[in-house]
Amino acid sequence: MVPEGQPRAARILKGALGSGKVSHAYLFHGPAGVGKATAARHFVMALLCPQTREQACGECSSCRRVLGGNHPDLQVLSPELDGLGIAQVRSLIRFLSSGPYQGPVRCALILDSDQMNRPAANALLKTLEDPPVYTRLLLTTDNPAHLLSTVISRCQSVPFGPLPHDVLEKLLSQRGFSAERASLAAALAGGSITRAMEMDGLLADDDGGLLALTRALMGQGRSDREGGSRTAVDSSSGIRAAVELRARVSRSGEGQRGNLVQQLTVLLCCLAEAWGKPAESRNNYPGAAGGTGRWIEEGGTYGQVLANLAGYSPSVLGRLGGYVMETKRAIEENANIGLALEALFLRWREAVNHAQGSRSTLQASR
Ligand SMILES: [Zn+2]
Repeated sequence: MVPEGQPRAARILKGALGSGKVSHAYLFHGPAGVGKATAARHFVMALLCPQTREQACGECSSCRRVLGGNHPDLQVLSPELDGLGIAQVRSLIRFLSSGPYQGPVRCALILDSDQMNRPAANALLKTLEDPPVYTRLLLTTDNPAHLLSTVISRCQSVPFGPLPHDVLEKLLSQRGFSAERASLAAALAGGSITRAMEMDGLLADDDGGLLALTRALMGQGRSDREGGSRTAVDSSSGIRAAVELRARVSRSGEGQRGNLVQQLTVLLCCLAEAWGKPAESRNNYPGAAGGTGRWIEEGGTYGQVLANLAGYSPSVLGRLGGYVMETKRAIEENANIGLALEALFLRWREAVNHAQGSRSTLQASR
């Protein structure tokens, strides 16, 4: 089985199996959550399967044992709490040196191989330089920069990239996601299935943080479509919300940075989604009054945020999107969270007030 949505990796792995010219060592590298470990396991399956040469049959006892993790010719190493140590690597080298037991080769799969400490990497290097004949070593990593360059140079490179949107959607629907949920999670995922699941979890289990952030940004003002005659966002309530949010962030410490970045990412997607739709259709968002309500049944955060944004014009939404993007980047780059949020609140309020100011001037001049 070739990795889906990974044409370069697929070409290398298929080529090796088809020609029978299989290297002693492969390094599966690329972003987290794009299928490297799955592809490595399938490659091992194909190497050990007695039924066919070019791919694993997936059904024989050898294939099933690889999937079940109990094939006598496969050992899998994954990091423990303190990483991958020399004892683990030594036991792996002993395993490889005793030769195949049942299959044509003996395989080692080292997951997150960048977690090897220096002594472990040096021990492995000896085996990579002079591997026993019937061995295949497969390494995966999200961070090839953390590997010794000597380890990298002894492995055939198998590059992975972000998964395309349609592949992600398909993989998510195979996991039981509805089409709408799969599409949204895929849009937020940055090409990673792991991140898609995280973002879905964030939307489903949002503890109100995202809604609180959006409502605080909106200045807790009533939106025009509810009949309020808001001429400017109530600045004092917006500032109060900012102060509260800032206090909450500082109480929960630096752990909040990642959450906030995720919330800002979702907010950005909401702004982009709202920006791309004509104003009259925006009230049809699930979660908005009279909306289809599908998302609200599944947690609803996304729909509610969209409903909150429904009163803004495309030009304001575009400007807000730029501010949110800058804030997200600053927080990712370790800026002071309180200051970054404060700047976002001020700029958000200015953009909205400015738009409403020019709207009322226009109406007054008619
Ligand atoms: Zn098989």
